[in-house]
Amino acid sequence: MIKKLLSGIDWMRDTFSPYANHMIFIVIFSSALISVAVQGQQGEAQLSAILIENVNIFDGKKDAIKANRHVLLVNQQIEKISDKAIPYQGDVVRIDATGYTLMPGLIESHGHLSMVDTLNNLKHHYDWVDIGVRQAAMAKSWLLDGFTTVRDVGGPTMGLKRSIDAGIVQGPRIYPSGAFISQTSGHGDIRERSDRHPSIDRVQDEHLQRLGYYYIADGIPQVLAATRANLRNGATQIKIMAGGGNGSEFDPIDSLQFRPEEIRAIVNAAKDWDTYVAAHVFYPDQINRFIDAGGMSIEHAPAIDEATMKKVVTKGVFLSMQMNGLSKELKDSPFNPPYAKAGIVAIQKDASNFVALVKKYKPKMVFATDALGDRDTQTKQRRFELYERARVFGNFETLKSATSVAGELMRLTNRRNPYKLGKLGVVEEGAYADLLIVAGNPLADISLLGANKAWIKAEAPQPVETIKVIIKDGKVIKNALRNRNESQ
Ligand SMILES: [Zn+2]
Repeated sequence: MIKKLLSGIDWMRDTFSPYANHMIFIVIFSSALISVAVQGQQGEAQLSAILIENVNIFDGKKDAIKANRHVLLVNQQIEKISDKAIPYQGDVVRIDATGYTLMPGLIESHGHLSMVDTLNNLKHHYDWVDIGVRQAAMAKSWLLDGFTTVRDVGGPTMGLKRSIDAGIVQGPRIYPSGAFISQTSGHGDIRERSDRHPSIDRVQDEHLQRLGYYYIADGIPQVLAATRANLRNGATQIKIMAGGGNGSEFDPIDSLQFRPEEIRAIVNAAKDWDTYVAAHVFYPDQINRFIDAGGMSIEHAPAIDEATMKKVVTKGVFLSMQMNGLSKELKDSPFNPPYAKAGIVAIQKDASNFVALVKKYKPKMVFATDALGDRDTQTKQRRFELYERARVFGNFETLKSATSVAGELMRLTNRRNPYKLGKLGVVEEGAYADLLIVAGNPLADISLLGANKAWIKAEAPQPVETIKVIIKDGKVIKNALRNRNESQ
């Protein structure tokens, strides 16, 4: 029954897409009733069960493969992992995965699902429908590359998250930050010279500001209001701009942004909701100001120095850096806006110690692409990031940063965590059933997950055929293996 239910859902989506969700609801609801009738004497009815048999496991934590295991998924979670066959009464989808590897779904810790094109195009050519539709397509492309969770660090993605959670569109779990919070002329103040200021001129006429991409906030009352507005809208953590950047025109790259007392106010307002703050920072003085005020996630931080790295490790701060940002591909990219080039050259020079410091101090580093642009552009960037990180830090460190370490970062959201039922980023009993089955061992060959040496000049992306199965929240998203029930 479950098998029919799963294949039936796909068929209905294709055939009756406007009505599919009602029909899915009816099918699921009626199957639940049948389940209750059949399994009534066993206690609680179970909606779906998947048994993955004879599979090798990379658990997200150890640089090792456990061979020939059996894994039972019930509803949204991993119920049991065993080295013996697991007897299961009742309907179950059996996946014979002999010779394949089961691993946690990947986690992106610095995504921008709402940045669906260049800033210039977003500002001048897109209304909210363009952005919404493209966000949905973007979310699906991340999921089909094996990313079952994305921490979105800036931009209006709360509605996308709600739509995905409601089953209306397919995509990863999203931890949204909502609007970037930036000081006037900070990295998130992306107005053009001709745009007026929201509080000095008392007008909110810049398009992306109205759409919820950023707040310009100065002084404690304004930063508190911006933080609380994001929390009100469903932010699971807060993202601020605490230093200069390359993608913005009116802030020097070395500038310190937000006064310490403003950052402390934001951190405390987030703590009052039992969550944390992430900050865009490049240089040690920016990083130190943020961490000293209680910040827990540093985004980028390529020019970090040794003393600051020690502090990051001591305080358990997460490091969310992109290796694509230090690449020749980025420096030579024809898509850099004219004002960005000098900053990219400068930061790459100032980041010459970054890799050595990470290798020496082993901070909690998460996989983070900072992918921007349309769907194919983001796909190319994430596949390049996988390649480039693995080249520098090795396959295991790259995979751990995209699974168990990132899962730990997601749990910093404490009571604001929308996905509290189990852990993310690990294969263990009780964890969420967010899983991939890969043709081969990704610890030995990262290209099985789509890692690609080319980025800007890469070919148009094709599906990653070596990711055979994608399961999110206990539901099969993709299955290119034959279910055992079908062959019997
Ligand atoms: Zn970013």
